[in-house]
Amino acid sequence: MGLNDIETRIAKACQDAGRPREDVQLIAVSKVQPNDRVEAVLQQGHRLFGENKVQEAAGKWPDFRDRYENVQVHLIGPLQTNKARQAMDLFDAIHTLDRPKLANTLARLAQETGHCPDLFIQINTGEEPQKAGVSPAEADGFIAECRALDLPIKGLMCIPPVDETPSLHFALLQKIANRNGLAGLSMGMSSDFEQAIAFGATHVRVGSAIFGERTPA
Ligand SMILES: *Cc1c(COP(=O)(O)O)cnc(C)c1O
Repeated sequence: MGLNDIETRIAKACQDAGRPREDVQLIAVSKVQPNDRVEAVLQQGHRLFGENKVQEAAGKWPDFRDRYENVQVHLIGPLQTNKARQAMDLFDAIHTLDRPKLANTLARLAQETGHCPDLFIQINTGEEPQKAGVSPAEADGFIAECRALDLPIKGLMCIPPVDETPSLHFALLQKIANRNGLAGLSMGMSSDFEQAIAFGATHVRVGSAIFGERTPA
């Protein structure tokens, strides 16, 4: 548990997979964590964080950014179109582009402001009705649609179903990314980031294994 332990495990997983350590970015998922825990991780020198709610991120990250240099924050939770403008200001990357309406809104705002965070398309690899994301069958078409809008698509993201072997989903995401020429793979959480690295993850999203269990707000 803790940042150092996770760093060690990531280094080992990269070595086992024959991948350079710098190919994998650790997103420390700070959602719902008390500020003192987040600050402790900042003080250890970590600079890349993930949040799943725009409002929550808006409440803490402007202040942390004032006090620490080179902080990056990625949005890893669902984005409503009416919060897209705020999200584009707050985040360095958005991992949850999951529908045409949001793609159109982001494209319009990118034209207007001349700036757009890096984008990952969320794929619903388990085709779970309650989960966000584009179905695997629609992925190629949606990726092409986003590229036609000039959006900076860097990769794909998935959250495997809780009751299934995550490796199958990581392999599927990797396959879709490869055939579309996308380098980024946002996959792997506290319980499975080593497997994700074996399947080519470039961004692992680790929360509780760094910060401890999330205490409900
Ligand atoms: C909360 C969250 C994580 C981190 O989960 P842990 O199990 O605490 O590592 C990763 N990805 C997404 C999309 C999340 O919402």
